[in-house]
Amino acid sequence: MTAGVRFRAGADLGRAADLDLRGWLVDPVRGREAPGDIVIREGRIESITWREGADAAGIDDRGVVVAPGFTDLHAHLREPGNEAAETIASGLAAAAHGGFTTVCAMPNTTPPIDRAAMVASVAAAAVASGSPVRLLQVGAATAGRAGEQLAELGELANAGVVGFSDDGSPIQRAELLRNALAYAGMLGLPIIDHPEDLSQTTGAEAHDGLVATVLGLRGWPVAAESSAVARDIEILAEVVRDVPGARLHLTHLSTGASIGHVRAAKAAGLPVTCDVTPHHLALTDEWLAGSRRWAWLALDDQGRARDPWRDRVLEVDPYDTALRVNPPLRSAVDARACLEGLLDGTVDAVATDHAPHSQVDKDVEFGVARPGIAGIETALGLLLEAVDAGLLPLARAIEALTVGPAHVLGRVAAAPGLVEGSPADLVVFDRGARWTVSPRALSSGGWGNPLLGRSLSAPVLLTIAGGRVAWEHADGQDVNERVGEPA
Ligand SMILES: [Zn+2]
Repeated sequence: MTAGVRFRAGADLGRAADLDLRGWLVDPVRGREAPGDIVIREGRIESITWREGADAAGIDDRGVVVAPGFTDLHAHLREPGNEAAETIASGLAAAAHGGFTTVCAMPNTTPPIDRAAMVASVAAAAVASGSPVRLLQVGAATAGRAGEQLAELGELANAGVVGFSDDGSPIQRAELLRNALAYAGMLGLPIIDHPEDLSQTTGAEAHDGLVATVLGLRGWPVAAESSAVARDIEILAEVVRDVPGARLHLTHLSTGASIGHVRAAKAAGLPVTCDVTPHHLALTDEWLAGSRRWAWLALDDQGRARDPWRDRVLEVDPYDTALRVNPPLRSAVDARACLEGLLDGTVDAVATDHAPHSQVDKDVEFGVARPGIAGIETALGLLLEAVDAGLLPLARAIEALTVGPAHVLGRVAAAPGLVEGSPADLVVFDRGARWTVSPRALSSGGWGNPLLGRSLSAPVLLTIAGGRVAWEHADGQDVNERVGEPA
């Protein structure tokens, strides 16, 4: 046997995990990766054995990989209010399929999560779903997400929220952001801002560049994001003088200019963190025209975006509304800047911004389609495409999905890890296999996905959250056959 998963119990989800794993173990907490075995009994990691020399023969990082369960800093579960698009149950099922064992739910539901009672009702729905995936709630930063006055941040903190955000919208009023940073900082929690200057994005449809011009879509400037990032950082710089605990997290950054601002702010010692999405790393605006090449293939030798018309790479019809997203898919140059930020540590985490919509909101004319990509199940596959292309070390990709988000949340000690005696909380995926994205293969209730019909790297074979099986590929038999019989 080379590497694999040995199933010892029945196939029902939610059962205590009881199995033997062998593969390429990645431990981002200790910065270690090597072949090894993990024995799990009744949901606990009984033993971890790292293999060396001859014992490690035949096991490498191109096959079965075992890593701590992923944390998604940014997901929209749509319940309450839009259960036609997603429910807490379907969203957590999709998360488990994506390898995530912890999900931070954004508060822009209907109504928004701006009171303690609502945090409790979401938590109850997560328990009722039966999913072992942990749901962490982000509270609204302003009452009703209306941007007029702060929400009851203290009450929300007592109810267990992990941060505050008006995501879907920025905190537009500067003095409100200032107060939010100060108050949340005193509570020990971050403000998670969606950086967008709305005065520059009214009616905007696509990244302001060649593709938008040719397709006749209204441009969405880089500065609409980067100027908001700069404003947020300048306000933070003042607030931390009085409130040293203030923390700003900038979510779904999509432009090189924004990444540059964060890089400089970190160099100046400011308490700012940021994340990028898998789709802003791997896809570009030329997908709107019908190209389907990865972002790194759309750059020329001088680091400029190539012309998809001149290159004759348009494979499918333009204006796929599955690609309409906020912020928009950017140029290949911006995608590369996001990747470089991830490589040098400017970007702390990869977050999915999983944003499912129902068919009535998405299967419409491009300009009226709701923005969002339901990407929690394809996040790992997109990152591994960059890994397979030699652009991103596997360990860094795993780090950005585990200790990176835990650091953003200030919960490093509570993050899942490969630790003997602790409840098993891990993901197993097979880099020796590929899977095809199809409606049947996806658990999310969201309609449409820009990757439908495409083959992606490394299906998730198994996700275990808090010691319980949250996702299992097909059935155990298939997995054993495909990856080899256990020793
Ligand atoms: Zn957002």
